[in-house]
Amino acid sequence: MSKNTLRSQLIEKRNGLSVAARKALSDDISNRLIELLPNHSLRIGSYIALGSEVDLTPLHAKIMASSNRLYIPRILSKTTMEMAALDTVEQLTQGTYGIQTSTQDETIAMRALDWLIIPCSGFDRRGYRLGMGGGYYDRALENCPPETPVRIGVAFATQESEFEPDPWDQSFDWIITENEFIRR
Ligand code: ADP
Ligand code: MG
Repeated sequence: MSKNTLRSQLIEKRNGLSVAARKALSDDISNRLIELLPNHSLRIGSYIALGSEVDLTPLHAKIMASSNRLYIPRILSKTTMEMAALDTVEQLTQGTYGIQTSTQDETIAMRALDWLIIPCSGFDRRGYRLGMGGGYYDRALENCPPETPVRIGVAFATQESEFEPDPWDQSFDWIITENEFIRR
């Protein structure tokens, strides 16, 4: 099966979760991440959920209320994005492709982030990711050192699958679902 066919099937499956189930499972995933936050401050890249993606709102609230710093993607072109600081929810604005982004000018280099939390339409146990098909994260991470940022995929357990990655596909270091931490 092609990555594109599998991607569509997995997104359909994710869309099939009820709003209430998605919220409950998303909150479980947020709580797992909150428990992982160390005592020292981190620069954390995350994203604002679109459609049926895992919604990390409670995690974001925790980060913004602490000495950690939050950054979210801003789409710049058909192939590129940057990570913009988000300090309050008032800075959220509608961006390209209907993806919420930040109004802040301040950005950070991908490699300067400690963690990068990445949504996916699918994942496998080896740490491979199916995104939305734009290759944005693959490109954004292409020139980063392998150890920074730590790439953390978040997904509902039902998004697990098996597929062959393409040569440009970047892998996750960790995948966090409502059920488990999977280490590559
Ligand atoms: P996604 O990662 O969003 O699931 P794909 O891995 O299928 O999507 O990538 C989408 C497109 O992005 C592919 O057609 C691929 O050619 C392109 N692409 C991804 N990473 C790179 C890269 N590092 N350099 C050039 N093109 C890339
Ligand atoms: Mg890819």
